[in-house]
Amino acid sequence: MIIKIKKNAVQSEVANLLDNLKAQGYDIHSSFGETVQIYGVVGDTAKFDTRSLYAYECVESVIRIQEPFKKVNRKIKSEDTIITIKDVKIGGNNVVIMAGPCSVESLEQVEIIAEKVKASGAKILRGGAFKPRTSPYAYQGMGLEGLKILRQVADKHDMLVVSELMDAEHIDMFEEYVDIIQIGARNMQNFALLKKLGKCNTPVLLKRGFANTIEEWLMSAEYIMAGGNDEVILCERGIRTFEPMTRNTLDISTIPVVKKISHLPVIIDPSHAAGKWDLVESLSMASIAAGADGLIIEVHHEPEKALSDGAQSLKPKKFDDLMKKARVLAEAVNRTV
Ligand code: PEP
Ligand code: MN
Repeated sequence: MIIKIKKNAVQSEVANLLDNLKAQGYDIHSSFGETVQIYGVVGDTAKFDTRSLYAYECVESVIRIQEPFKKVNRKIKSEDTIITIKDVKIGGNNVVIMAGPCSVESLEQVEIIAEKVKASGAKILRGGAFKPRTSPYAYQGMGLEGLKILRQVADKHDMLVVSELMDAEHIDMFEEYVDIIQIGARNMQNFALLKKLGKCNTPVLLKRGFANTIEEWLMSAEYIMAGGNDEVILCERGIRTFEPMTRNTLDISTIPVVKKISHLPVIIDPSHAAGKWDLVESLSMASIAAGADGLIIEVHHEPEKALSDGAQSLKPKKFDDLMKKARVLAEAVNRTV
């Protein structure tokens, strides 16, 4: 529920209104523009008689939000959220490119790949140090050592680091070594983890679960924001459908749909959607054309030897070709890669 306050309202009456709502157990989130004063009322408002609020003279209008998410909602914040980390902006007119291996395998491997993807225009280095593998016998990642490698190499090339967090016990470690915490598809509804992320100061890249609706995905973002962390980047990485020709089905319509209802940046992971390197370029172009705020792409210099996801990893030269095309396309749609 959103309450818009009259322009010249008596502030003591506004305080009285807010106190009464808090006394009923609701959380209040405020948003102040030049001339508007708006409050988001968070809690179970389903049974609330919104008309009763018009008894307060200071209330101009009350909107019952159909959607259960509030802080992620464009109705409460109309302008796009732009997340600034050092000199990189995510959201707005930018198409930010994150690239790197699926898994960190060694310092040498990350060094080779980072140098290439940076030269092609990637600003953020990706790499998994803690890997969510379907099989417990598959490569699990280098752990803390992997995070240290990412940090060291990214600093050398003036890049940011994004890496996946799986365990709440590692949050402090991640805050020390990464610029963006990735929450993978498998943990999108790990609510205990999301709540803890709400209390940290590092931006979160929240992947959509492969069997989750857009509303469930936005509700997970809401968990993080409700905890106090406003810096959430949404990432569509393909969902499970009946179609076996691709690893997942890239739901390209999430871009216009989410942008309409939320102010958060939306990026696309064409690698996990496709599962095959030769589809990555087409899906990347489609994503930029549809208005994505960025891409996260797996790149490996020796994909045949990669310890995970080699089949969907681009070689650096192919990534460079993709970046050249991406720049031309982005310019055509008034955006900057
Ligand atoms: C990854 O980015 O390497 C990864 C495991 O992604 P997802 O959570 O989308 O499967
Ligand atoms: Mn991967």
